[in-house]
Amino acid sequence: PVVTRFAPSPTGFLHIGGARTALFNWLYARGRGGKFLLRIEDTDRERSTPEATEAILKGLTWLGLDWDGDPVSQAARADRHAEVAHQLLSEGKAYKCFATQDEIETFREAARADGRSTLYRSPWRDADAASHPDAPYVVRVKAPLEGEMTIRDQVQGDVRIRNDQLDDMVLLRSDGTPTYMLAVVVDDHDMGITHVIRGDDHLNNAARQMLVYTAMGWGVPIWAHIPLIHGPDGKKLSKRHGALGVEEYQLMGYPAAAMRNYLARLGWSHGDDEFFTDLQAQEWFDLKGIGKSPARLDFKKLDHLTGQHMSVANDAALLHELEQYRSAKGLPGFDNDKTEGLLAAMPTVKEKAKSFDQILEKAYFILTERPIQPDEKAAKALDDVSRGILRELTPRLQTATWTRPELEESVGALAQEHGLGLGKLAQPLRAALAGRMASPSVFDMMLVLGRAETLARILDATE
Ligand code: GLU
Repeated sequence: PVVTRFAPSPTGFLHIGGARTALFNWLYARGRGGKFLLRIEDTDRERSTPEATEAILKGLTWLGLDWDGDPVSQAARADRHAEVAHQLLSEGKAYKCFATQDEIETFREAARADGRSTLYRSPWRDADAASHPDAPYVVRVKAPLEGEMTIRDQVQGDVRIRNDQLDDMVLLRSDGTPTYMLAVVVDDHDMGITHVIRGDDHLNNAARQMLVYTAMGWGVPIWAHIPLIHGPDGKKLSKRHGALGVEEYQLMGYPAAAMRNYLARLGWSHGDDEFFTDLQAQEWFDLKGIGKSPARLDFKKLDHLTGQHMSVANDAALLHELEQYRSAKGLPGFDNDKTEGLLAAMPTVKEKAKSFDQILEKAYFILTERPIQPDEKAAKALDDVSRGILRELTPRLQTATWTRPELEESVGALAQEHGLGLGKLAQPLRAALAGRMASPSVFDMMLVLGRAETLARILDATE
């Protein structure tokens, strides 16, 4: 069975690259009936904060990337990491190194002066235990000195590394705490991780991690190191590009489903398919479809996908997400009497919307209260002549059957009688119903508002 994981370091918000990594792991596991685990790599006590962990969990939750079981804290597993280091020590696959920082520096300086490799070679590697001083030591793995190793990467292909390019990396520091490199391997092994999908900035680490796998005689997971995300200008993503955290996308009003679709396409492809559902993504996602070159952020594409996702979304679910959006922005929830109208209006207001803000704008006619204060443009549309014509509409609407064809018929007939195009009459009508000139079609609004409310708004505007 497939087991993947997302292993963020809690030193900041969930950035867009991390979110994409999480999504790939989630898709891979979910599409194969596997498990998707979460491990918080909080070993760097100085830089890790509970707030960052909170922000990462919140970001994943918003994105809908549910993980299996409880998040694992890497720091809480320090004893287990040390245990592995001691096992390697007792098997002679690791050794105690008593070299001081000064000695290591001296070694490096000499190497530099001689033009030799500055990789540290500890004299303690082959020292007799009887000669060990009673002094602080680190535990180093015994890396092979010659030959080469191959990282079988699903994205980068086979990456060969000469063993003489690796040093005997430290597994346990002199205070007995495990290094990050040891912790990752032990955790991935203990958690039964079968596939590691992560940024290609970790490819070099894979070589060093391989040393631990080999020393322990553990099987290596399947690795897929994915290219980083670049900004729209093709340069490495940085603060200058803005919008680095997923919560910024949430606050811009993008729905999570569109974001998932968009992130899935950042660096992965399935033929020419751009728009897809979660189920399709889970079914289609595979490591073969991951590209070798960095993907570029493209907001136009995100907007476009958002429009498509809005139009196919379930209306009640969309309303629910709209409410969550309001609450994320610190805005008050909807009154109960508005919820019904919003739900009824949803098919209309979500049409072509590229964000929740655009939905809210279009839904203004529901959210506002009588008497409606027309804005400047709307007030202009409600000139004396137009109000006169609108007044004539009232008796017709009182008797019309409240269906689109009948309403279109009534309004159309009145416009014709005055020698006006439908649009000319629709303008003041729109102003009366919504108080502004940007709104759904007047017929959509009338159908959602119902007869009584429609007539009341026209009366308000024409009095
Ligand atoms: N904690 C690492 C990071 O946030 C990820 C390590 C891994 O995936 O192996 O970059």
